[in-house]
Amino acid sequence: MPSARRPTDLTDVVVIGGGPAGSAAATLLADQGWSVRLFERDRFPREHVGESLLPASLPILDALGVLPAVQQAGFIEKYGATMVWGTDAEPWSWYFRETNPEHPHAYQVWRPTFDKLLLDNAAKHGVDVREEHRVIDVSFGPPGAELHVVTSSGVELDVKARFVVDASGQNGLIAHKLNLRQNDDYFQNLGIYAYFEDAAHLDPPDDGNIFIESYPEGWIWMIPLSGGRTSVGAVVDSRAGQTAIQDQGLAEFFQSQLAQAPRASALLTDAHRYDGPHVVRDWSYVAEPLIGEAHILVGDAACFVDPLFSSGVHLALSSAMLGAAFVTTALRNPGMAAPASEVYAELYMQQYRHFRELARLFYASNRSVDSYFWEARKILEDDASTPREAFIRAVAGQPPQGYERVVLQRGDAPPAFAADVRALEEERERRSAWWDQSLAVTATRQALYEITPRRGAEVEVVPKPILEGGEFVWGRVLVTPNRREGTPVSSLIERLLELCDGQRPLREILGLLIEGRDGEESEQILSASMTAFKILFIDGAIGGIEENAETTR
Ligand code: FAD
Repeated sequence: MPSARRPTDLTDVVVIGGGPAGSAAATLLADQGWSVRLFERDRFPREHVGESLLPASLPILDALGVLPAVQQAGFIEKYGATMVWGTDAEPWSWYFRETNPEHPHAYQVWRPTFDKLLLDNAAKHGVDVREEHRVIDVSFGPPGAELHVVTSSGVELDVKARFVVDASGQNGLIAHKLNLRQNDDYFQNLGIYAYFEDAAHLDPPDDGNIFIESYPEGWIWMIPLSGGRTSVGAVVDSRAGQTAIQDQGLAEFFQSQLAQAPRASALLTDAHRYDGPHVVRDWSYVAEPLIGEAHILVGDAACFVDPLFSSGVHLALSSAMLGAAFVTTALRNPGMAAPASEVYAELYMQQYRHFRELARLFYASNRSVDSYFWEARKILEDDASTPREAFIRAVAGQPPQGYERVVLQRGDAPPAFAADVRALEEERERRSAWWDQSLAVTATRQALYEITPRRGAEVEVVPKPILEGGEFVWGRVLVTPNRREGTPVSSLIERLLELCDGQRPLREILGLLIEGRDGEESEQILSASMTAFKILFIDGAIGGIEENAETTR
C-alpha cells in the first residue's frame, strides 16, 4: 500500500518508547513545560517480562504522580526475597524492612498493566502519546534531530525535535545506529520464562516474595502475580542453553530446567503453564557515550544488567529522572550541557556498576551447587577488576541496600573481598563508638572541644552540577577518597571543612560557625555541626581527632 509522508512541526522533545523509562522521562519533561511527543511502536497494554520491583522506585513513582494508581492496582506486595543460594541448601529470606524502614515493600507488577498506568500518566501530564508509531530512523543536525516514523497502518511521518530521548529498551535504536553497544563478557546468559496459573506460594510471611532457586545449570525465578498468575523463568548459560534448546526444543528444555529445582517444582505441582515459554537473550551491555549532541539514552536503551536483583525497572526510572533533568538543562541552559552530561553518565553508571558488581559477587558466592555454570562464574582472587575499591566502600558502611549484606552473610564471598569490607566496617564502628563515648562524659567532652581537627588529604569541596528542581544547576559537592563522585554539601559544611585546618580547636570552630546568630538558630547550627563532625570523622574526611584528643586529655 503506498504510504503518505506527512511532515510535522518542531517538538521540543521526542521520546522513543513508552516503557517505564520513556513514560517517566516524558512525564517529567512535560512537567517542566516542554512540548513532548512519545512514539511507542506497540499498543498498550503490551506484554513485557520484568515484574519484580524494588522499594527504591517508589519515591520516583511518587514524583511522577502515579504512586497512588500503582498502590490501588491490586499488585502483590513484595516484602523481600527468598532464596536457595550461597552456602546453605535450605531456603532463607530477607526483607526490605531490615534496610529500608521507610519503604518496607515494593510490588510484583503485571507489566502490561503497570506500563500502561505509567504511559497513561504521561498523557495526563500533557505528553502527546502516539501508540503504534514505530521510529524507523533518527538523523541529527540543526535544529536537533529528525525522526522517521511509521504507523501500524503504514502512514509515514517526518518529525523534527530539538532533543531525542531514546527509551527504546533492548531494541536500542540509536545505540545500534551509532554502534555504541558493548556486551559484557561476564554475563552471557539466556532467560527462558513462562506464565503459570495456580502455582502454590511460599508460606506467609514470604508469600509475596520473589523466590530464587539456584540449581546446577543456573537459577530459577518465581514471581507471584495478582489474579493467580506466576511468572517463572530460568537463567542459564547462553551458549549451553542455545545448544540445548536446538537439540531438545524450547518447551522440553524449559521443563528440564524446572525439574532440576526441587522447590520450584514442588510449588508448580498443581500449576499449568498458560503462556510461553519465551526466550530472551539477557546479555548485559552498556552503550556509551550515553549522551550525544541532541540525544540521550535512558533505561535498557542505555544499559542492561543481569536480572538477578530485579534492578531493571528501577534503573529505567532513575535514569529517566536524571535524563529528563539533563534534557531540561541542555534546552534551557546550553552552556551547562557538557558538565551536566558528565554528571548524568557518572550517576547512572555508578548505579549500573554497583548492581553489576553485586551480581558478579552473588554469582561467585554461590556454593550450594557445584557445576560448570557456577564454576565459570567464580571471581578469582587475582582478578584485578574485583573486588573493586569503590564497590567495597559502597558495601561497607554506606546505608545498606539489602542484598549487599545478604551476600556477605549467606554467600561464600571471595575472602579478600569479605576481609576488606569487614576491616572498613570495623574501623567505622570503632570511630563511631569512640565519638559517642567522648561526648558521653564531661571530662572527655571537654577534651574533645580542645582537639584541632584537620581536613583529610584529598578531601575538597568543588563546584559540580547537582539536581535541583528537575534540572542540573551548579552546586558544591564534597569529594572524599570514599566518595569520589561527590556529595552535595551545604555552605555550613563547606565552611566547617575550611575551618578544619589542624590549628583551630573544635571549640573555636564551633564559635566561628555560630558567630552573629541568636539563641535558637545557634543551637541548631551547633547540633548540625556536631552531627556533621561525627559523620566526617567516621568517613575519614576529618583527621587528627583521636590522636589529638589523647594529648588534650
Ligand atoms: P522497555 O520496558 O523494554 O520499553 C521499551 C519500549 O520501547 C517498548 O514498549 C517498545 O515497544 C518500545 N520501542 C522499541 N523500539 C521502538 C521504536 N523503534 N519505536 C517506538 N517504540 C519502540 N526488571 C525488573 O525491575 N524486575 C525484574 O524482575 C526483571 N526481570 C527481568 C527478567 C529478564 C529475563 C529480563 C531480560 C529483564 C528483566 N528485567 C527486570 C528488566 C526490565 O524488564 C527492563 O529493565 C525494563 O523493562 C526497562 O525499561 P525500559 O523502559 O528501558 O524498556
